This record gives sequence, C-alpha cells and structure tokens, in this order.
Amino acid sequence: MNTATGLNTTTAPRPGTAIGRLDSPLASRIRRTEHGYTGVEATDEWADEIRRLADLRDAVILAHNYQVPEIQDIAHHVGDSLALSRIAAGAEQSTIVFCGVHFMAETAKILSPDKTVLIPDEAAGCSLADSITAEQLAEWKSEHPDAVVVSYVNTTAAVKELTDICCTSSNAVDVVESIDPAREVLFLPDQFLGAHVRRKTRRDNVLVWAGECHVHAAINGDQLEDQARRHPGADLYVHPECGCATSALYLAEEGAVPADNVKILSTGGMVDAARASGASQVLVATEVGMIHQLRKAAPEIDFMPVNADASCPYMKMITPAALLRALVEGADEVHVDPATAAAARGSVERMIAIGNPGSGE
Ligand code: SF4
Repeated sequence: MNTATGLNTTTAPRPGTAIGRLDSPLASRIRRTEHGYTGVEATDEWADEIRRLADLRDAVILAHNYQVPEIQDIAHHVGDSLALSRIAAGAEQSTIVFCGVHFMAETAKILSPDKTVLIPDEAAGCSLADSITAEQLAEWKSEHPDAVVVSYVNTTAAVKELTDICCTSSNAVDVVESIDPAREVLFLPDQFLGAHVRRKTRRDNVLVWAGECHVHAAINGDQLEDQARRHPGADLYVHPECGCATSALYLAEEGAVPADNVKILSTGGMVDAARASGASQVLVATEVGMIHQLRKAAPEIDFMPVNADASCPYMKMITPAALLRALVEGADEVHVDPATAAAARGSVERMIAIGNPGSGE
C-alpha cells in the first residue's frame, strides 16, 4: 500500500481508471442485507470519512433530489438527472459517484464515457425505466416503421439506443412539436407524461406506451383534491409523471384552485419556482425526498407533500453505508457498451438541443 495516499495501489488515479480498495476505519461496520447496505450512521465521523475518501479517489459525489437528506447534504452537487449528468460531464474529477438510480448513472456514463462512474448500490433500479425493454421497443417500432421514437430520460441505455430523441419533462412538448406533424410519434415509457404531451400538442398521432412509475402513480387526484380543499390558497407543484397531473389541471379549469397556483414542473423546476415564489404554503406532488431541497431553497415556505408515503424504495437504497462502501471498494462500477453508448448519446444530445430541457426527473 502507498502509505502517503492510503491507497492499496502503487499508481496514482488517472481519468477513466478505477483504483483499488481504500482503507477506512468504518468499513468493517458495513453490512449487506436483503434491503441494501446498512450498519453505518450519518455521523460527523462518517461525513469526514466520505470527504476524505472522495478526495483520495478523485471523486465528485452527485445526489438526486429524491435521495435521503444525509446523502443530499454530503454530496458536492444535488439536482435532477439531466442537470447532474451535465455536471458529471464537465467535472474535473476522474470518478463520478452517482447517488441515484441505475439509469441515471448510465446516462452519466453515456455523456462521460472516459470517466469511472460508480453507483453505491447497482440494485437501485426504477419501475418506470423497467416498464419497457429494448426488445419490446424494437417490436413496437416494427409495427410503426415510419414513426419517430421519443423516450423520456427514465429509460435504460439499451432503450435509448433505439430512440430518435430523448426528452425531459421540461421539454417533452417542445420535442414532440419539433417533429413533422404528419409523422407518427411513439412516446415512452410514461403514460402520464404522454397524456400531458398529447393534451398540450393536440396531436392524436402520438402513441403512448402504458408505463408508469409506481411511486408517482400512487399520488392520485383524490388526494390532491382533498389537500387543495384543506389548504386553500396554497400553490400546487405537480410533477407531470404523477397520476394527479390531470386532476391538477382539471381543478384549475373548474376554478377549484386558481390556475396561476398550479405549476407542472420537473424537480429542478420546482427548486427554481420555490426560490422565486411569494407563496406561504406549497403542496408538492412528487416523491417526498424533494421536500428537503425545497425547504433548503425557500425555508420561509411551508412545503407539504400531497402523499407523505410517496417514497421511492430504489432511491432510498443509497444509504450512508452504501456510499461509504462505494468509496472504499470503488464499486459498483457502471459499464455501457461503447456502441450502445454512442447511439444513445446521439438521442440525448438531440434532446439537449431542443427547447429548454431543464433537468428531467
Ligand atoms: S420515483 Fe419512480 S421514476 Fe423515480 S426513480 Fe423511483 S421508481 Fe423510478
């Protein structure tokens, strides 16, 4: 071991090169259970150790808005999937530790093929990304050979490879409007975002895959109506993947909630809106982890989840123990086949060029 650096390798890290195991006095406490990595609490000692190991590994730590608060607070950057992937691509560090779910780490690898990308627990999947496979998309395409394929960023690299243009929730409407109105569009995988796009573009040749995120779909219109009645005057921040997005627009059209109070936003858009808001109360219809960043952005506002049980179990697999283990072991490393990455990169870059891509989920 190199006693000057604490590494058990004899060579210094260089871009794109994974290094070996690092020593840590906390490492022996890490336990693997069927629910993920446990055994380490987010103490000051843990925080110091995470920063020390990140420096040794030349790593930048990125955390999605849905991560547990202690992971958000230790990360170098917090945001949504696309914003984080862009930060990853521009980062000086040779290693990216992506605290989020697997498709997000894959997107970072697609945009940063020369960097080492780690996810603290590779079992952190996504029910929405899993709702369509590359094989299913290939079959759908064969039934509509002239259609343009538009995929939300919550998709695997293999699905992105078969995609013409990716989109975020911020620019999904702009992406579809950029396509020749005479051509069919295959929109996937989220049916609620697809319904939002059909409504906004008034195109009936947008075919929508019937996928959904089980967390967002569980936030429904009845809950939203109930909360809106209990908190008259509150703003409503709604993620377009939510089952309640349609209800929010309906409530506004019916006058139950002032139309100006209803904001359909990506998670990054919610943070921007909170900073600019003069509201005293805001109802938030998305995964509950979002509340932590909103309260930090605008502590004077009372943010309330529409459904306090809307917690993503995959996002919560990135525990303090999992992050420590990622930095100690240099795992789990995310690999994307170079040919798949090159094709997928084209669809992501076309997304970035259209409208305001904002920041995805
Ligand atoms: S909240 Fe839903 S869309 Fe987001 S990572 Fe979890 S399962 Fe996937």
